[in-house]
Amino acid sequence: INEDKLSRIIKKYEIKSVIHLAGYKSVAESVTNPSIYYSNNLGILLSVLNVMLKENCNNFIFSSSASIYRQKKDLSSFNENADLHYLNPYSHTKLIAEQIIESMFKKSNINYSILRYFNPAGAHESNLIGEESTAMPNNLFPYICKVATGKLPYLKVFGNDYETKDGTCIRDYIHITDLSAGHVKSLRYTIDNNKNTKINLGSGSFASVMEVITEFNKINDKEISFQIHPRRDGDMAASYADITLAKTLLKWEPKKSLKEICNSALLWERTI
Ligand code: UDP
Repeated sequence: INEDKLSRIIKKYEIKSVIHLAGYKSVAESVTNPSIYYSNNLGILLSVLNVMLKENCNNFIFSSSASIYRQKKDLSSFNENADLHYLNPYSHTKLIAEQIIESMFKKSNINYSILRYFNPAGAHESNLIGEESTAMPNNLFPYICKVATGKLPYLKVFGNDYETKDGTCIRDYIHITDLSAGHVKSLRYTIDNNKNTKINLGSGSFASVMEVITEFNKINDKEISFQIHPRRDGDMAASYADITLAKTLLKWEPKKSLKEICNSALLWERTI
């Protein structure tokens, strides 16, 4: 990244706040090609932080990830003080990024919100913005949408022998527009309060892989074919958020249900 050019842009447009979304996000890709994850998610981040310090940019919002929480034995929800841990280069970059931000901005007048995303899914209600990847999807939602629309033959369910209700992993799926509203609220909070936060953005509830399949079967004319496969390396049995902090501090609350997430994701998939 060209720091001088970034400096010029920040000066020219008098930019005071930065929402940094430019990270790579595939766990699988980070395992096969860790170096691009460290260069992009950390190297480029460093340049952005350097330029912000130099140009007196005051507010920073960063996309972190719930994948930095350590699995709990009782499979309960994570609050922001839960133990941290990483299982792959992707989550390693997020964990280090949080530490770098904290350390570099400690003695500055920059305030930041670190947002720990759970499982974003779904598409914008206009049906003009959604997720599209040229590569084979790894995540549950893009994959199941392709099965629902007949673009892929069946879903592989990675493990049905976890210590959960139906044996499949449970996750906290959050609608993408709820997530984006969380960014606006956290920026407002950061600007108004001159405080730093690390905060969970999730729905606060959870669904198993089988429950997601059931939800799709309710809205789709064709049943989701699936096969049970062995556990996927590095998967946690349970990951879902305690969102008390986001509710109280940001006055933010997710509005969309799992049904709406599935509906919007499927509608989007039919258009691409
Ligand atoms: N999953 C699955 N089949 C797939 C993709 C995902 O069974 O083709 C499961 C995966 O094991 C996990 C959940 O769906 O329990 C969510 O996975 P995803 O990759 O979407 O997000 P992650 O929580 O791993 O970031």
